[in-house]
Amino acid sequence: MLECKSLQDVILKFHDERVCEQYLEQLRWNGKPVCPHCGCGKVYRIKSTKQPYKCGNKECLKKFSVKIGLIFEASNVPLTKWFIAIYLNSAHKKGISSLQLGKDIDVTQKTAWFMLMRIRELMRVKEEVKLNNVVEVDETYVGGKMKNKHKAVRAQYKKENGYLSGHAGNKVGVLGLVQRDKKCVTVKVIDSTKQTLKQMVSENVDTSATVITDSLNAYRGLAKTFADHQIIHHEKNMFVDGDIYTNTVEGFFSLLKRSIFGIYHQCSQKHLARYCDETAYRYNHRGIKDGERFTLSLQNAAGRLTWDNLTAKPEPKVNSPKWLIEFEKNRAEWMEANKNRKGR
Ligand SMILES: [Zn+2]
Repeated sequence: MLECKSLQDVILKFHDERVCEQYLEQLRWNGKPVCPHCGCGKVYRIKSTKQPYKCGNKECLKKFSVKIGLIFEASNVPLTKWFIAIYLNSAHKKGISSLQLGKDIDVTQKTAWFMLMRIRELMRVKEEVKLNNVVEVDETYVGGKMKNKHKAVRAQYKKENGYLSGHAGNKVGVLGLVQRDKKCVTVKVIDSTKQTLKQMVSENVDTSATVITDSLNAYRGLAKTFADHQIIHHEKNMFVDGDIYTNTVEGFFSLLKRSIFGIYHQCSQKHLARYCDETAYRYNHRGIKDGERFTLSLQNAAGRLTWDNLTAKPEPKVNSPKWLIEFEKNRAEWMEANKNRKGR
């Protein structure tokens, strides 16, 4: 098994397409190919570089390669570039922007963006785990402040809603839950119309746990569901009271915000959950070496994300007024039309 300790290792060891494929085959099938279409273990090796295997099942007989069913399926980008992209995105603490990745591996920004979105898919937690023991819970808001928006946007908002507040607009809530002993985090984007904060906590935390929150009203009554509910009173300027604090989860939020503002600069409401999952993935696996995280990412590579279901029109946003959707569309068009202008 090839082991990589650094980016240089990845570039040297995975210099050839076939080497990358063999590595994936080893990780996925342990050396014994299985047909991804029907699950048949009787497989022939054929003379083809693109699809080197053929299913032995008489009803299937399909040709395939190891890429079928993985995030690399139907991608024209060679695996050698994919591997570098996965290493970079797993190793950099705050992630990498599509613009930078495009330059690093010599693909267009659009291709790099799509690759990163697929890579984020492999970082998504596919099974829900309930947190236990002592769990810190807190919420934060991501997005631009109303006061920084364009005059026309603010005027329109005031006209429709009759008021203007700092948190209004397209700020989106994010709920963070950290199991303190393992320092393992779960992040959820809050859809205020669907569930209450309390419900979300119940779904992600075991009832035998001690839950620590701030004094927000929305958390009231958690003591009925969980073994214990402790409150830290931030409004009284108390941030640590013995074992009662939410600083671990706040530390995670600062990492999340730094990566959104510092690396990605902005991200849409639609894709926020992916960025959250990505940051959580790196946070939860920060104890292992970069090379090990790279191998783990490749093992998770099942689950293909297509361009169509990635760029599909977002569900109508309940708390985003029509004019805002319209405004963002116009802005995107304007950015596209002016992207070559000097100074941008
Ligand atoms: Zn088959």
